[in-house]
Amino acid sequence: MPEALKAPLTVEFPFTRSLSPVQSAFLTGLRERIVLGVRTADGRTLVPPVEYDPVTAEEIRDLVEVAPTGTVTTWAWNHAPRRDQPLDTPFAWALVRLDGADTALLHALDAPGPDAVHTGMRVRVRWAEERTGAITDIACFEPYDSSPNETEPADHTGEFENPVTGIVAPARLDYTYSPGRAQTAYINALAEQRNVGERCPSCRKVYVPPRGACPTCGVATSEQVEVGPHGTVTTFCIVNIKAKNLDIEVPYVYAHIALDGAGLALHGRIGGIPYDQVRMGLRVEPVWTRGARYPDHYRPTGEPDADYDTYRELL
Ligand SMILES: [Zn+2]
Repeated sequence: MPEALKAPLTVEFPFTRSLSPVQSAFLTGLRERIVLGVRTADGRTLVPPVEYDPVTAEEIRDLVEVAPTGTVTTWAWNHAPRRDQPLDTPFAWALVRLDGADTALLHALDAPGPDAVHTGMRVRVRWAEERTGAITDIACFEPYDSSPNETEPADHTGEFENPVTGIVAPARLDYTYSPGRAQTAYINALAEQRNVGERCPSCRKVYVPPRGACPTCGVATSEQVEVGPHGTVTTFCIVNIKAKNLDIEVPYVYAHIALDGAGLALHGRIGGIPYDQVRMGLRVEPVWTRGARYPDHYRPTGEPDADYDTYRELL
């Protein structure tokens, strides 16, 4: 049994969101060095603010200003900051209950080491020098020797010049992906330009790519079956939007292709035929580029179209 493959995988995208009046006031307030929360009907002050009462689900619009000082309610030490985290030296992730608030805000706390951090310690906001209306306008929290400020939070209209109405939040996930035993065998066979699936011992369906188990019968699969290389387009879509980092001219066709002998369709791009001539039942074969571990695309074989009844169960 060859060792299971693994490889680094990064999923990264900019997430653009519009802001509700409450979130808009909160982030615009940060730009102006003001921390706003909301007051619920039963008199609690929530920071960061939310638009709906987490208990009654009632809409909340009563904004209040809280102090930029607070108390750490709990924390964890971050030994090795990652790319784009608030600080590039080790720091604490802390929940900070700002004076006047009843809930805590998660942010970075700049401290020389974990021995310098404890629950109950007093901290204050360190503002970023350049502020744009984002949570990063709070650069971090820093230790601040003081007594809790017991004054009631003051009402605030939440109105500012040029309010922030939307933000772009970059999202990035870095992880190590392992495809497991069945897909490792599949990927290794692909390197030899062969499609190898696995047959369910119970329903006899052949899974390509194999997942190691039949989701219908709930049993492990192990019998390897070579399928293809020819297949049939079962269904398809025409792609009109050019993807970033993908050097393919639009429009092009992306299709579900049932390889001969397979019990379900896999995905692939169709080439070698005008996009508007691709059809259900079209017979195709894989086209490999040198050194590739998977087909670049599929092209027509020239065979007559497959009869609908031969693939109707594979749609
Ligand atoms: Zn099965």
